[in-house]
Amino acid sequence: MSREQKAVERARKAFLTGRSKALEYRITQLKNLLRFVKERQKEIAEGLKKDLKRSEFGTPLYETLGLESEINLAVRNLKEWAAPRPVSKSMMTISDQVYIQPEPLGVVLVIGAWNYPWAVTIGPLLGAIAAGNAAVIKPSEVSSHTSKVMEDLLPLYLDKEMYPVVTGGVTETQELLKQRFDHIFYTGNGTVGKIIMEAAAKHLTPTTLELGGKSPCYIDKNCDLAVACRRIAWGKYSNCGQTCIAPDYILCDPSMQDRVIEEIKKNIKDFYSEDPKKCMDYGRIINQRHFKRLMALLEGSTIAVGGENDESECYIAPTVLRDVKPDAKVMQEEIFGPLLPVLTVSGADEAIKFINQREKPLALYIFSSDSKLIKHMIAETSSGGVLANDCLMHFSVSSLPFGGVGNSGMGRYHGKYGFDHLSHLRSCLIKQLKMEGMNNMRYPPHTADKLGW
Ligand code: NAD
Repeated sequence: MSREQKAVERARKAFLTGRSKALEYRITQLKNLLRFVKERQKEIAEGLKKDLKRSEFGTPLYETLGLESEINLAVRNLKEWAAPRPVSKSMMTISDQVYIQPEPLGVVLVIGAWNYPWAVTIGPLLGAIAAGNAAVIKPSEVSSHTSKVMEDLLPLYLDKEMYPVVTGGVTETQELLKQRFDHIFYTGNGTVGKIIMEAAAKHLTPTTLELGGKSPCYIDKNCDLAVACRRIAWGKYSNCGQTCIAPDYILCDPSMQDRVIEEIKKNIKDFYSEDPKKCMDYGRIINQRHFKRLMALLEGSTIAVGGENDESECYIAPTVLRDVKPDAKVMQEEIFGPLLPVLTVSGADEAIKFINQREKPLALYIFSSDSKLIKHMIAETSSGGVLANDCLMHFSVSSLPFGGVGNSGMGRYHGKYGFDHLSHLRSCLIKQLKMEGMNNMRYPPHTADKLGW
């Protein structure tokens, strides 16, 4: 029996003991997870520094503070989330009990990505724990240092039978995917997403796919450009652009292009100094494969800002590209790096057309002071989430579901959405063996007389 198979069997066995159904157990595990995140800040930060050159402050800001608040929310609300949910009754059910009972699904496989490896692995895990499931955790091998921290330390805090960590790459993940799960929660790219769905289909396992895509950023003429570009520069260059909801490209009126570029340039300097390579707050590309991929995307583009790079360090400076055409190489795939193309459109309607001609993105950003225009763009487009006049911040709102649509994914999580998504919402109707007379009309023989027709 393979290591992966053993881990799944252990989790299944643990789940079948029924202990994860008890709310006290789930709360204890969630509190242990919280303790882990708080006590192991140092190890978490060291792993992220080695993987992504994440700064000392970047770890809490982009990774652990969000997790802490999500865990606290689940602990505070679990009793309410897990309680039976009465629903409206009809004349036929007036004297019955009619309610929805959330129940655990079973064993969930959580497959994480490398870019925010804690947020996208522990985030789904905490939803699985809250919902009373067992979970097999498969962190990304690409962020190998973080993966090791997870493998070594998480079992010291959590029930290791119920929540085993399995490390490894493609071979190990594929071995895991041969096993039967009750849900697979995958974060990563769409090509692998298809492999996941295919494997899941063999066991009719439902899947959540948290994918990416090219998230557009429209800047309207009626807008405070200085503020807009500051927020865009932050959203784009945080984590070196390796953010699933990073603004992928800018759409703006041709008359605004120069000012947009100037403002972004100014903010790059304000954030990361004249030489971002030396700046503590500026990260690195995860590996040489992605470095080469990004450098190849630059082919044929006009660099307006940045472009400096150093393969030995996987460094690419914050870069802005001007006059980019829709058929440019950089526009053919999700960038997932610090390159920001600027494309020109004649206004919001052309931007809408541009967006709708492409796959549905994970995020859509609209910068405008005109609230009617914002609502118009929201009504005429589709995306996983939409955020007006800021970047990334919708990810941190626990009362909003986070997830994609179409090619950017399926399913959702965060807060109660994560709990619901990893629960089965079971329909319960409890009748009494009384008032049998009311049922007469449904029993054959059916006659017009009996039905009153
Ligand atoms: P990755 O390479 O870490 O892959 C993700 C997981 O898939 C890993 O655990 C890996 O082991 C597994 N995997 C890789 N190849 C596989 C194969 N052939 N068969 C089975 N499993 C395999 O991450 P990535 O895909 O490079 O991540 C980047 C992508 O993820 C981007 O598209 C980004 O937008 C997206 N992303 C989405 C979210 C979100 O929440 N929607 C968050 C982060 C990243």
